[in-house]
Amino acid sequence: MTAAVDTVAAARALATAPPDAILAWGAAHLPKLAFATGFGAEGCVVIDLVARAGLPIDLFTLDTGVLFPETYALWHQLEARYGVTIRRVESPLSLAAQAAAHGDELWARDPDRCCELRKVGPLAVALAGWDGWVTAIRRDQSAARATAEPVEHDERFGLVKVNPLVAWTHEQVWAYIAAHDVPTNPLHARGYPSIGCAPCTSAVIPGEALRAGRWRAHAAKTECGLHEARKADAS
Ligand code: SF4
Repeated sequence: MTAAVDTVAAARALATAPPDAILAWGAAHLPKLAFATGFGAEGCVVIDLVARAGLPIDLFTLDTGVLFPETYALWHQLEARYGVTIRRVESPLSLAAQAAAHGDELWARDPDRCCELRKVGPLAVALAGWDGWVTAIRRDQSAARATAEPVEHDERFGLVKVNPLVAWTHEQVWAYIAAHDVPTNPLHARGYPSIGCAPCTSAVIPGEALRAGRWRAHAAKTECGLHEARKADAS
């Protein structure tokens, strides 16, 4: 059962609210609220905010099976640092089963299909029956995210989406991390401002967009599909 929330009114009321207030609003209005983290710098900030405030927000991650070793290490580091459990959500299709059904390295030939199988589909299952989900997206990360609101209706998954960092800049995120000594992925210091699955993430060079290293071989692909409105050809 999805909680009855006027997302337009909430977005208006929270337009200039800081991230902790947006999260607190979500926890107060959405009894079943989950945060799906990909362990990016922004996600680590959200985990810090949730833990610091003791908010009853479920934490989970989509484990595609091909994350960087540094990301798996960060997962455990965050759990230890904050005394929380970050649940693993996986595709029912193992990597071996995916290779058998679709060929080896599907991500290299059809990353949209691979993201659907390993991320979007499992997320839809994981969010079924929840009132809302928290994300760590920011408006200035990409054109697709430029119109995101602090609270919005998520058409794709049919629930409320809470975006506490939506108005923050890259610099604000890193200032918070420094001020609160938040654990982050060591790959950031090696030229990876945005980190996803290992086969689909490369380092960026100075001057490139922060997400330029994601799906570099597929120029038209900028999102895994988790934050896009439902499309007819989404599968
Ligand atoms: S980011 Fe790459 S490896 Fe990960 S699910 Fe998407 S296509 Fe597959």
